[in-house]
Formats: sequence, C-alpha cells, structure tokens
Amino acid sequence: MPDKVKVTVLGATGLVGQWITLLASRSPWLEVIQLMASSRSQGRKYGEAAPWRPPMPLPDRLQEADVELVDPGRVEGELVLSALPSEVAWPVEEELARRGKIVVSNARPGRMEPDIPLVNPLVNHDHLSIAEVQHKTRGWRGRLYKNPNCSTAILTQALAPIHREFQLEEVHVTTLQAVSGAGIRGLWALEIMGNVIPFIKGEEEKMVLESRKILGELRGDKVELAKFKVYPTTTRVPVQDGHTESIHAKVSGRPGFDEVLRTLETYRSGLEGLGLSLVPERPIQVLDGPRPQPILDVLSGGGMTVSVGRLRVEDGWVRLVALGHNLVIGAAGANVAIAELLASNFL
Ligand code: NAP
Repeated sequence: MPDKVKVTVLGATGLVGQWITLLASRSPWLEVIQLMASSRSQGRKYGEAAPWRPPMPLPDRLQEADVELVDPGRVEGELVLSALPSEVAWPVEEELARRGKIVVSNARPGRMEPDIPLVNPLVNHDHLSIAEVQHKTRGWRGRLYKNPNCSTAILTQALAPIHREFQLEEVHVTTLQAVSGAGIRGLWALEIMGNVIPFIKGEEEKMVLESRKILGELRGDKVELAKFKVYPTTTRVPVQDGHTESIHAKVSGRPGFDEVLRTLETYRSGLEGLGLSLVPERPIQVLDGPRPQPILDVLSGGGMTVSVGRLRVEDGWVRLVALGHNLVIGAAGANVAIAELLASNFL
C-alpha cells in the first residue's frame, strides 16, 4: 500500500464535515492532518468544537486536534475536502485550486460549470476526467471536483440504470427530507416536530439542473446534458437522517416489471474490487413490502446504498420510492469516495 494522501477538511465541525472527517480517518488511502472551520471554533479542540453526531467514534488523535480558521494560505493537505456553506465556499476553493491543491467540495457554487466535474461516484465517476482542462480554462495548477446536492445524489443513483437501459423522458419527484439536511444549526425542534415543511430553499432548482449533468454523456472533455425534464417538490419532515423520494419516471421504452427489477438489481458502479472503502457491493437494493424506511434502511451499504421499494411499472411509467443517507451518499460519503478514487489513481 503506498503512503496515504494528506487531507485537510474545511467546515470540519459541521454535520457533513464530521462525517467527512470520520470516513476519511477510516480510509486506507487518506490521512486527515488538518481540520478547519470558522472563528467560532478556531483554537478549540475538535472534540469540543464539534458536537459529535455520527454513530461511530472518532480516533482520539483527532478529538485532541486544534481546529484552525479556514485560510487557503495555511492549508497543508495535498487533498482538500470541503464542507463549507455555499456562501463562503467559492473564493476559498478557487484560491486553493489556483495554488495547486486538489479540492473535492460539497458546496453548490461551480457544480454546473462545464469544466468542473459533478460526480456521484457510484453513477458517473468517468466524468472526473473533465477536471484536466481546468489548467487551460482557468489557469489553475490544482483541480476542483464537486459532489452533488443530497437529494440529487439519491435520485440519480436510483435512476441511473433505468435511464441507461430505457431512457428517461420526464421525472416527477416528491422528497421527504431529513432534518440533518439543514445543517447543525438548521432547524429548531419545535419547527419540525409533528410537522411537514413543504419548501426547501434552492433545492428544487438543484435537482432539475444537477440530475441532467450527472446522467449526461461524457463527450471528450464535455458533458452533454441528459434531455429528460425533472419536476420536483421538496419537503422537510421530522426524520433525523435519510431523504425519502417518491419518484414517477416516464421512460421512452415500454419495459415490463421484471425487466426494470432486473435492471435495478444488477446495477453496479464499476468501482468494485479497487480497494476503496466506500464502494458498496450493491449501489441499489430493492426491497419488498412497506420499505424502505429511514429507521431500518438508512445505513445500508454503510450509508452508500440507495434502497428502492414500492416498485410499479405501467404504460411506460416506472414508479418507486427511494431512500438514501443524506449525509453519506448525499454528501460526505460521495465526497470521500471521490477523494479515495483520486488518491488511488494519482499515487
Ligand atoms: P453545517 O452543519 O452548518 O456546518 C458548516 C461548517 O462550515 C461548520 O464547520 C462551520 O464552522 C463552517 N463555517 C460556517 N461559516 C464559515 C465561515 N464563514 N468560514 C469558515 N467556516 C465556516 O452545514 P452542513 O450541513 O455540514 O453543510 C455543509 C455543506 O455541505 C453546505 O454547502 C451544504 O449545502 C452541503 N451539503 C449538506 C448536506 C446535508 O445533508 N446536511 C448534504 C449535501 C450537501 P463552525 O462550526 O466553526 O461555525
């Protein structure tokens, strides 16, 4: 095994940052050497500054690490994993790529830029190659990669095999999104307990645009956007972790139930057997009965698998319910899987 690639985590104290720090610290390819956040956490021990939420403990070494203020000039890692809020991410990530760092980011800005790969690693890892043009298009010595919005990551993973086999024409989707999707200080318990909030700012626009880029075709160093249309309604529900999506997809063929079921069940990411810690045996699991349910299914495949149930196929429409972990496949897991892929390739 070659030396591990040194990693700096930005926004390390937030919900996504905690999962990135945890998953990267368990990776055979990565070594977390630096944790950065806002002035609120600067100078504090990580164990105190980050009220720990993942269901697994962090190594003592990192609990005792000092949190530093985000500053591109002080980043020591070769790889930078960013869980910064959208409002602050772009200038920091751009400056790091300019200085020669390899940046993998969760934040929205730049996701739809043609020369910035937008990658769900279990769906379109071939798009990573686009980043090679950034030295020409932007004059950067480093590179910037994006992982998708959480609801979009789950949607594209459930639909990738269906699109590739039967071509999507239109997708109608209603999401039931977990509270943890709103960040560590996102929602008060009294706002959400016993309630449904039928609007999430910016979420529907992201699903419409990002799905077509992720499921688009790579042509040379460009992605040709997929042509299907997405009609989303996004809601917040009182669930801790896991976004559920009720999906109605119109396809151009007239597949039967068995054909669609087989397509979902046999789907593989193409990354199996590479020694990456975040590639599940099955990116999609199909369940019978009243499933998927967040309490039962959210940690399937370590949080990387999307669970699909309620499958119905009729008159060219595929209807299903999909569930994925918003903080793992929807955020940190996708981010660290991209990092592992880059680390295992460029060493
Ligand atoms: P969060 O819990 O609110 O965490 C935000 C992190 O950014 C904290 O570490 C915070 O540090 C740091 N930060 C905030 N303002 C900063 C500033 N001005 N300068 C430097 N650091 C700053 O948010 P999150 O849910 O983890 O989301 C992080 C990113 O991932 C966002 O871009 C979000 O849209 C995206 N995302 C989230 C999810 C999800 O399910 N939650 C899914 C996909 C993508 P302090 O603790 O020191 O304030």
